[in-house]
Formats: sequence, C-alpha cells, structure tokens
Amino acid sequence: MDIPLQQVDAAVVPRFAGIASFMRLPVLGSAEGLDIAMFGVPWDGGTTNRAGARHGPREVRNQSSLMRSTHHVSGVEPFAMVRVADIGDLSVNPIDLADGLKRIENGVAAVVAAGALPLGIGGDHLTTLPALRAVARNRPVGLIHFDAHSDTNDTYFGDNPYTHGTPFRRAIEEGLLDPKRVVQIGIRGSIYEPGEHSWAKEQGIRIIYIEEFAARGAEAVMAEARSIVGNGPTYVSFDIDSIDPSMAPGTGTPEIGGFTTREAQQMVRLIDGVDIVGADVVEVAPPFDVAGLTALTGATIAFELLCVMAKSVRMRR
Ligand code: MN
Ligand code: MN
Repeated sequence: MDIPLQQVDAAVVPRFAGIASFMRLPVLGSAEGLDIAMFGVPWDGGTTNRAGARHGPREVRNQSSLMRSTHHVSGVEPFAMVRVADIGDLSVNPIDLADGLKRIENGVAAVVAAGALPLGIGGDHLTTLPALRAVARNRPVGLIHFDAHSDTNDTYFGDNPYTHGTPFRRAIEEGLLDPKRVVQIGIRGSIYEPGEHSWAKEQGIRIIYIEEFAARGAEAVMAEARSIVGNGPTYVSFDIDSIDPSMAPGTGTPEIGGFTTREAQQMVRLIDGVDIVGADVVEVAPPFDVAGLTALTGATIAFELLCVMAKSVRMRR
C-alpha cells in the first residue's frame, strides 16, 4: 500500500523551522483516507481548579518536532506503516460547556466515520467523554486509563455533572464503557472523602493505585491490564498528571509520587496487541510548565501511543 504521508525531512528542513504540526506531519483538512488522525482539542471548560490545558495542543505540536521516525525499542516506523496526519484542532467553544462537548463529539465522530483511529491531544480530561460518545456509539468499549485521579466523581458545584473529575462516571452511565473492561493505573493523592472510589469499584472498575504499581512493576501491571481489556475494542486515555510533577509539572492537578517518564513509556509499549480504537493525551497545561518539559512528555507519550496504534491498525488488516 502506498503511504505518502511522511514527516518533513529534518535533514532538509530543520526541526525548528516551518509551521508546527504534530510530529512534523502534513496538516490535512479531514481524516479522509487516514488510518490514524492526530488532532488537538484546545478546550479546558471542564477544569475545576487550575485552567490552562486549552493551550496544550499548540505546545505539544511545538515539542513534538523532536520526534523522529522510528521507535528505538520496537523498531516500529509508524509513518511508514500507516497513513497518519495532523488534521488540526477540533472546533471548540470556550464559553459554552454543552456546545463545547457537542463540537468535540462531532469532530471525533467525523474521524471515526472516515475510518480513522482518533489520537487526540487535549485539553482537559472532560474532552475524553465526547470522544467516547463518538467512538463507542455502537457498542461499549474497554479503557486503559493512566491518571493520578479516578475521574469517576458524580457532581461538582451543586449538581453539575460535567467536569474533568467526572468523565468516566458519565461514560459508564451512558453505556460507553464496559466497567468490567476498565483499568485505571497510577491513582493517588488526597481524596474528598474515604469512599470516593467506592462507586467505581462497585461498577467493576479495576483501580491500580500507585503503591500497587510500585510493588508489582510495569510488566505485571500491564499483563493484568491487557487481560482486563482482552481482545475487545479498547480506548487508551493518558492523563499527563499520572507522571510525577517533578517530570511533568505543567498540569492543573499535580500529585507527587507518580510515574517516571520511563515507567510511563514502558507501560504504553506494553499495551501491545490490544485492539485500540482511539487514544488521547490530556491535561498538558503549558501555563504551569517549565522549559516545555510537560509538553515534550505529552508529545513523546503520543509517539509511543502512535507506535502501538500503528501495530494495532496493521493487526486488523
Ligand atoms: Mn484525569
Ligand atoms: Mn488527573
């Protein structure tokens, strides 16, 4: 198969030159003809505390200019294996939450309708809910979720159901996720009340707290994660605050005691073999970042995801 979409050659145009796109890929107007569509979701209307993730996509594009063509461990060359491009940012509405969610759902639905896998760069974690509404329209999917937070709270500020602390509760209520095929990894930090995670556990969500991860290690945890999601369609959501704030300070809700960047890379590589139907990297908030470190981490995790997604696309053919 002819795969003409390639990165701009860094030996011809230096990485710092030109208009920034994800991974220095071509920018296309739609996902038509693509296997994987990368896009930004510059929206943080669900953020309850420190806003700024709306600026994430632009900074991740900038730092992603550092990504080369080939994965140094797996040898995967995603741009040679599948057709992938940057399709720009989804339409958003920064002053209307309901309209913002609808626009994001429509944007991801267009990617799905084109037959491409969505790889979104947020944006706060509420953006994953409309993405799931688009991806899981016809059947519930499984979820591998890296985060410091479970994001399964019920309501905030009275009875507001839509914040970046609630997307996975809503997704289960809406039948978008099969809770028995949901695994959350890296959960930690102070909580609002002792039973904060009870609802999630009652649904059948497997929560792997950071302490259990530290005791068992990436290989064992990801073997369990793969068995939880099994062979069915699975979404992967990576909240950058799962990583320790010493390595990823640019995020709205930092929690110390998190993954190292290397542990995160190792875990994403171990998603290998899963039927991935979409993925995102969320909560990169450049106003809190230092030297572009968090945006670089987000870009590199996106490259890791892209490599396992490319293998997933090829597996399905
Ligand atoms: Mn989150
Ligand atoms: Mn989080």
